[in-house]
Amino acid sequence: MAHAVLLTGESGVGKKTLARYFAQALLCEKGGDGPCGQCRGCRRFLARTHPDAVFPAPLPKEKTIRIDSLREMIENLSHHSLEGGRRVIVIENAERMTPQAQNCVLKTLEEAPEDVYFLLTCDVESALLPTVRSRCRIVRVQPWPGERIKRALLGQGVPPDRAETLSRYCEGSLGRALQMQQDESYWAAREAVQKTFLSVAGQKDIAAAVQALQNQRDQGDRLLDIMEQEVRALLHGKATGASGAGADFPPLWQEASEKSLCRILEAILTFRRQRGANVNFAAAADHFMQIIVEETKTWQA
Ligand SMILES: [Zn+2]
Repeated sequence: MAHAVLLTGESGVGKKTLARYFAQALLCEKGGDGPCGQCRGCRRFLARTHPDAVFPAPLPKEKTIRIDSLREMIENLSHHSLEGGRRVIVIENAERMTPQAQNCVLKTLEEAPEDVYFLLTCDVESALLPTVRSRCRIVRVQPWPGERIKRALLGQGVPPDRAETLSRYCEGSLGRALQMQQDESYWAAREAVQKTFLSVAGQKDIAAAVQALQNQRDQGDRLLDIMEQEVRALLHGKATGASGAGADFPPLWQEASEKSLCRILEAILTFRRQRGANVNFAAAADHFMQIIVEETKTWQA
């Protein structure tokens, strides 16, 4: 194990979980490949009472990890191990360290005794000083495959239809999937997309759909993000023959041509631009749905 490991990757892919796992393994008294979970070292680590594990974090009401508190923690730990073995410093969201605090870590890395280990996590590598990065072994935690996310969500009691949707749209991040699952406004926005953009089959439906969207106008960007994700997934499914794509669409959309879907994607961009330019929301929504209706006509032929 390197003396400093930096775990990077998308938010929610499990960097902190992995960092804690490594830390526990370092402090496990059984000394196997992974932590045993039973020994005194493991139990104390899990209870957060292990004297040789510290978790520097911002002070209450502060956003950054400052050098003073970090230095004190590190100094206490570096001079002597309370348990006579390894010492572990876990810095989650390491980008919250001020540059001075990062330099303090760097200095410690250069001078630290053999058995001091640093475990850092950070979403974006470049948020840390290059000098710190270059002293770390970098572990890039990969996004999870959709099937594994789905299994994990089902295991946590998430209903199957939601688990399916989340596994497709969480970008391989279980943490994000769990956050989305609890966010009722996300599900409300999905439902609004279903009942408006995806349900207009003719001119006669547009007025009611625009009316329904008026209540959701604050969520406009989110509705468009969801619509874009859905259309892209359908397009991707058509291009690759992947199963499951378009499961959220009404049957007619299964007939959509790739050309049509591209035109609808362009219309989403236009809608976004119009929102940015303060075009009346109802007018922009009306225009967008006119294009959807025009395209759906070509699928019925
Ligand atoms: Zn153990």
